[in-house]
Amino acid sequence: MSEFDLINQYFKTASVKRKDVVLGIGDDCALLSPPPGKQLAVSTDTLISGVHFPENTKPEDIGYKSLAVNLSDLAAMGAEPAWVSLAISLPEVNETWLEGFMSGFSELAQQYNVSLIGGDTTRGPLSVTVSITGFVSAGAALRRDAAKAGDYIYVTGSLGDARLGLEAILNNTVIDNDVQFCINRLNRPEARVLAGRLLSELTDITAIDISDGLLADLSHICEASKTGASIELQSLPLSTQLRRVYQQQPEWEKVLSAGDDYELCFCCSPGQESAVLETFKAHDIVLNKIGVITESKGIQCVQADGSLLEIDHQGYNHFQSE
Ligand code: ADP
Ligand code: MG
Repeated sequence: MSEFDLINQYFKTASVKRKDVVLGIGDDCALLSPPPGKQLAVSTDTLISGVHFPENTKPEDIGYKSLAVNLSDLAAMGAEPAWVSLAISLPEVNETWLEGFMSGFSELAQQYNVSLIGGDTTRGPLSVTVSITGFVSAGAALRRDAAKAGDYIYVTGSLGDARLGLEAILNNTVIDNDVQFCINRLNRPEARVLAGRLLSELTDITAIDISDGLLADLSHICEASKTGASIELQSLPLSTQLRRVYQQQPEWEKVLSAGDDYELCFCCSPGQESAVLETFKAHDIVLNKIGVITESKGIQCVQADGSLLEIDHQGYNHFQSE
C-alpha cells in the first residue's frame, strides 16, 4: 500500500464535513474560512509511544487520546473546536492498527464536529502529532495570566485517576472495576470543552487544563499571574473509585502531581462565583472549590489539621534530569 492509498483510505474518508472547510485533504494545503470576527485558537500536542502512552495501548485508545488532549487545550482557552491536522509516524503499514486508530480518533472528531483537514504520514517510531484550531470571540479566551489575589480556585471532575490507571498498567496489578475506571480515564480523557466555553462567556476567568498535575499546572497560572496559591487538600476532588483503591487514605503527593486527567483548573473572583456555580449546575458539570489565589508566591498545601504539606515533586517535566 502506497502512502497515497493509505491517506485516501484511512484519513480522507474519516473526516467530518464542515462548511468552513473549502478544501480538505488532498492538495498541498487545506483552505479554511474562519468565521468573521472570531479569533483562532491553535494548539499542538505530540504523543510518543512509551512516553505518553504505554506501548501496549490499543490503537483505538491512542487515536481517541491524541485528539482528546488537543481538545483539552482548546477547552482551557474556552474555544470552540473546528479543524485538526494529523502528523503520524508509523513503524510499518499495519491496516488493523490504522483502522483501530482512526475509529478512536473519528469517534471523538464526530462528537465535537471537528474536521480532519490534512496532515503528514511518515515511517518511523510510532508518534502522533495533532494540531487543532478553534474559534473564540475577541477578548473571551481564558488566559493563564489573569488571576488575582483573593480569586477562588476551582477544578472540574476528579484528580488522580489517570495516574492510578497508568501505575496499574505499568505494575501489572490486578484490574478490578475501580482500577478499570482509572485506566479508562487514562486512555479516554474527557476534554472539558463545554466547561471551557461556558467559562469564556463570563468575565475575569483564568484557566488551564491539568495535563501535568495540579501543582505543576496551577503553578503556571501563578507564575503568569505573578501570584501564589493556597489549596486545601481535603477539598481536592477524588473519585469514589480512587478513594476505594486508596482505602480512604489518599496519597496527596500523588494526587497533586498526577498528570493526564485533563480536568480544568480555573480561578474566578468572589463576585463571579455565583454565576459560575449556576452555570455549572445548569449543565450538570462536577465542580469543586479547592483554594484561593494569594499575594505571596508559591503554592501552599494545607492539610486537614491546618499544617502545611511539604512537597518536592511538582509534576511531569520531560527535561527534568537534564
Ligand atoms: P505534500 O507532499 O504536498 O506535503 P502529502 O503527500 O504529505 O502532501 O499529503 C497529501 C495530502 O494528504 C495533503 O493534503 C495532506 O494534508 C494529507 N495528509 C497526509 N497525511 C495525512 C494524515 N496523516 N492525516 C490527514 N491528512 C493527511
Ligand atoms: Mg507532506
